[in-house]
Amino acid sequence: MEHFSYHIPTKIIYGIDTLDDIEKYFTDKKILLVTSKGHIKRGLLTKLENLNIVATIDNIKSHPEFNHLEKIYEKVLNIQFDIILAIGGGSVIDGAKYLSVYNTSKEKDFVTKLIKKETTKQYFIKPFISVPTTAGTSSEITPWATIWDMDEKKKYSLHLPELFSTIAIYDPVLTLSVPKDITIQTALDTLSHALESIWNKNANEITITHAIKAAKLIIKNIIPLANDLDNLEYRSNILKASIYAGLAFGNTQTAVAHAMSYYITAHKGVDHGIACSFTLPLIIDNIIGKYDFIDKALKEIFGELNSDKLRTILNQLNISTEFKDYGITNDELKYIISSLQNSQRAGNSLVHLSMDGLL
Ligand SMILES: [Zn+2]
Repeated sequence: MEHFSYHIPTKIIYGIDTLDDIEKYFTDKKILLVTSKGHIKRGLLTKLENLNIVATIDNIKSHPEFNHLEKIYEKVLNIQFDIILAIGGGSVIDGAKYLSVYNTSKEKDFVTKLIKKETTKQYFIKPFISVPTTAGTSSEITPWATIWDMDEKKKYSLHLPELFSTIAIYDPVLTLSVPKDITIQTALDTLSHALESIWNKNANEITITHAIKAAKLIIKNIIPLANDLDNLEYRSNILKASIYAGLAFGNTQTAVAHAMSYYITAHKGVDHGIACSFTLPLIIDNIIGKYDFIDKALKEIFGELNSDKLRTILNQLNISTEFKDYGITNDELKYIISSLQNSQRAGNSLVHLSMDGLL
């Protein structure tokens, strides 16, 4: 780890009521607002009154899919705007990223082709400002978006080096209305991002420092928050964890837990945050004792070098750590493990799982 680089061009603004003067970031700009129904509460709407919003897209769905995004994209091509304002969870911000990319001939399937590597035409990106309303994917400070093809049952990444938000604005008050299941799922996704950036070939001193901070915040606050959803202090800590996790895995990408999760989400309909986190104790058991820096980080996070604490937390949240409880047969598990060899995300991983000990 003697040579490393680190990059994040996004300006981060954090605090209660940070949206009160949001118009100062949009002077004379025509704005396309991208959100999903239910994300804009009345109080927030008042704060957007002084903005020059020329059009609103409010139907971005959870786990966004090509079919749906392409229809929205076709409409957006006819709208004159300078900048996108994305307000919502990770799926909304991922959808906004898809809509921000274009080429000069404005082809309606250009972004899909770009993601599926079917075009090498030059792309351009409209600037976008992100306001996350959940504490989870950290999409507002990473340069990629997750897009699903449910016909192929496959997850794709729109990953471009310039695909960072210009500004990410965080107000923990916005996360107060997130229901319990989504609060837990997104917090566990954050934990997975933090841990996956540690057992990662791309890890460096900067990412590890952020990852430890993020994971500690989740471990300390997730159960108290699950039992007290209106507590702004717990909400703030979890939101900060998602910032630190983003600062970590935004530079390393994810690893083996995410690589396994995509099959489970696409084929079993398990939410991303659960699919990428119920395997974390298993992965911890497999990596302990192999790399000093990973042992050191895990010990700092959990206070001990085993997966007991995390297993207890998942247990308290009623999340099983057994594949069979998600409807995954032994044959499917064999397939998932063997397909890791071809996975770019698993290629980042310093943990290599085999079927031995899993059955
Ligand atoms: Zn994730």
